[in-house]
Amino acid sequence: MSVSVPLKAALRGRCGVCSEGKLFEGFLTLKSRCDHCGQDFTVADTADGPAFFVGFFIMIVLAPFYFILPVAEIPISAKVLGYGVVLAATVGLAYWLLPLAKAVLFNLQIYHRAEQAQFEDQAPK
Ligand SMILES: [Zn+2]
Repeated sequence: MSVSVPLKAALRGRCGVCSEGKLFEGFLTLKSRCDHCGQDFTVADTADGPAFFVGFFIMIVLAPFYFILPVAEIPISAKVLGYGVVLAATVGLAYWLLPLAKAVLFNLQIYHRAEQAQFEDQAPK
C-alpha cells in the first residue's frame, strides 16, 4: 500500500487502516475503535500537533492582512469590513482545517504503527 491510502482516507474522515470506518464521533473527538476493521484508535494520540500546524498555516496566510489593514489608505468602514472578513476567514479556516489535520496526523500514526519514543533500556521486551 502507498502512503496516499491513509491521506486519502483522512480527507474523508475515515480510518487510515481500512479506509472505511469513520474516525470521528464528535467534531474533534475520535471514536475508540474502527467500526469496520476494529482498529484500536486509542493506540495513537495527535496531542496538539493539528492545532500547531493549522495555527501556523493560518498565521502565515492571514497575518499580512492584519498588518496591512491599519496602514491602508481606505475609509474606516472598509477597514472594519476588512477586519470582519479576515476574522471570519481565520475562524472558518481553523474549523475547516483542524479535523482534516487531526485525521491526517492520526492516520499516518496508525498506518505506520508509530509509537512514542522510548529509551532502549526501558522498552518492553
Ligand atoms: Zn478501519
